[in-house]
Amino acid sequence: MTRAGKWDFAKHEYRPYEIPDGWYCPLVLYDMGTIVNCASCGKDLPFGDTYTSRQIHNPFGFGYMVCEACMTKERMDESKAQKENAT
Ligand SMILES: [Zn+2]
Repeated sequence: MTRAGKWDFAKHEYRPYEIPDGWYCPLVLYDMGTIVNCASCGKDLPFGDTYTSRQIHNPFGFGYMVCEACMTKERMDESKAQKENAT
């Protein structure tokens, strides 16, 4: 498995996150058609259809690639945490 960090939008800190063996989660690829796994749910999709995660990062702070559904969920979690912090 690969050690990564998952940013907690509410607490502003990384939580340990492990990418399972067998998931292909490159940070950078030149061939947009290569099938990779979403670093969050593991879904297979072409690299060109992925989004850079705002939440799942490697130890150097680079975002892993996630699918559209997971990106949408991250955005919702982030805006929810911002609203809670503002009140
Ligand atoms: Zn996903």
